[in-house]
Amino acid sequence: MNFELTEEQKDLQNMAYKFAKKEFEPIAKECDREEKYPRELWKKACETGLVGIIIPEEYGGAGVGWIETALVMEQFSRIDMGLGLAVLAATFGSENIMLYGTEEQKKKYLPPLVNGEAICAGAYTEPNAGTDVAGAKTRAVKDGQDYILNGSKMFITNGTICDFMVVLCVTNPGAESRTSQHSLIIVEADSPGITKSKIHGKMGIRATDTAEITFEDVRVPQENLIGQENKGFYQLMHFFDLTRIMVAAQGVGLGQGALDKTIQYVQERKTFGRPLAVNQGVQFQLAEMATRVELARCITYKAAWKADYGQLDPSLNAMAKYYSGESAVWLADKALQLHGGYGYIDEYDVQRFYRDAKILEIYEGAKEAEKMTIARRLF
Ligand SMILES: Cc1cc2nc3c(=O)[nH]c(=O)nc-3n(C[C@H](O)[C@H](O)[C@H](O)COP(=O)(O)OP(=O)(O)OC[C@H]3O[C@@H](n4cnc5c(N)ncnc54)[C@H](O)[C@@H]3O)c2cc1C
Repeated sequence: MNFELTEEQKDLQNMAYKFAKKEFEPIAKECDREEKYPRELWKKACETGLVGIIIPEEYGGAGVGWIETALVMEQFSRIDMGLGLAVLAATFGSENIMLYGTEEQKKKYLPPLVNGEAICAGAYTEPNAGTDVAGAKTRAVKDGQDYILNGSKMFITNGTICDFMVVLCVTNPGAESRTSQHSLIIVEADSPGITKSKIHGKMGIRATDTAEITFEDVRVPQENLIGQENKGFYQLMHFFDLTRIMVAAQGVGLGQGALDKTIQYVQERKTFGRPLAVNQGVQFQLAEMATRVELARCITYKAAWKADYGQLDPSLNAMAKYYSGESAVWLADKALQLHGGYGYIDEYDVQRFYRDAKILEIYEGAKEAEKMTIARRLF
């Protein structure tokens, strides 16, 4: 068993950290306060070669694995999770094309994501179907060579800024099983009949774009079907099994960032005439925080390693996402507490980490959904 990262992986990790430190810190507060999507930052990250690195080389990416992708996500989230997500999730949804798309779809849709020419969205959740993915009702009905889409999607990351989206639609409403009703279809974002409404007032990750999208008689060529018709639910579960590793990596990064800031703060802040850090009660809290970060990192890297080496383990990935997300929330809370009143003010970053962390327990499957996956494996 070897827990060492390779030299290339360490270089990538270092490069991602330096990029985020230099480019994220000056704009993080403003993007958070103003709910501003950092378009220039995203372009710069593409130019630096840090976006879409998992995309195979023949489609413009670096062709690296989930470990490398997780390392970049972790380092970005360590500085600012919202900006990290805004930049790296510009490819969110395209993994469906990587996994199940035709050669033509891969050639058309993947390179622009790496080059900074296009942003993707994954549109699965609906106003009445979130955790219950198979409850999605958006319809795609065949009409000649096309599908006609009707329905609505909720909480879609990149919803108003994307160039195309991967949409979960019902194509076989009569199927006996609800999990055999759906297909995944690529939809160009400027297609007539699409309405996008930005959702304002998010608690955290406010630099990311989130939208409600409605489809009204949207015409899409049937060649935009991804993979097999009516197998979309299973394809999507495969997608989530992989992308949950990224959510786990966000939790590791945010947790590490909260710890970094707290270690610095307790050495500077004095109470009763001496630095907070000299109190053993404070040191114990930091020790507990460091242990949680390391455990979350271990399980996340293991999940990524297994995915890279052909041993994808949905139960382990669910554990990684659930544990890392819950730990990030706990870590951000500890960090804020140790910053006292200053931690509660937005001049200090920990309050943003506290707000950002919570989404890790909700999106890409609420933690209860992860526990369902884990429990299923136990029986
Ligand atoms: C900022 C943000 C970004 C998002 N980005 C995307 C995106 O890009 N694409 C996309 O498709 N979706 C996206 N989502 C949607 C997200 O994945 C869903 O919100 C999530 O899956 C939960 O669905 P829901 O909100 O409908 O909650 P519900 O399904 O209504 O569940 C509510 C709560 O009940 C609990 N719960 C639900 N079912 C059970 C059960 N069976 N047993 C026990 N407890 C249960 C959970 O705690 C859950 O949080 C995003 C959401 C947010 C807030």
